Amino acid sequence: MSLAGARPEALPAAGGPRLRREAEARLPTRFGEFRVVAYRDAVDGRAHLALVAGEVRGRGRVFAHIHRSCLLGEAFGSLGCGCGALLEGAMQRAQREGRGVIAYVARGGGAPASGAGCPKDGEGACAVGAAIFEDLGLRSVRLLPVGEVLGS
Ligand SMILES: [Zn+2]
Repeated sequence: MSLAGARPEALPAAGGPRLRREAEARLPTRFGEFRVVAYRDAVDGRAHLALVAGEVRGRGRVFAHIHRSCLLGEAFGSLGCGCGALLEGAMQRAQREGRGVIAYVARGGGAPASGAGCPKDGEGACAVGAAIFEDLGLRSVRLLPVGEVLGS
């Protein structure tokens, strides 16, 4: 399964990483309440998360964002990359729309993101995101350009 080249509203075809759910919990945040679902990739062992706002199962054109984890940007608020602001923008938009999913994808190999900027797409983030959206039962998703997520 790959989101590359897919129409923004299209849910990609089956395939890709083999994710299994490991845990699920309520996650109150300063933006509102999310449900967090923890996944493990049975192939490479990486742990990924889904942040879910509202009811999304069976829904179409759900706001969705695929976010690659970035310690410097998110934990320390580095301005060298836009990761922290991008994640917050996506969380705010999901709450404002009343539903949405953020696929929070772990980077592979333990390589930290450089403060100067993040790899545009690595570790098959889009395939992981697609597998998460499928597991959550979304009929289709709306992936927005970074500028629109930040502008929300
Ligand atoms: Zn970053």
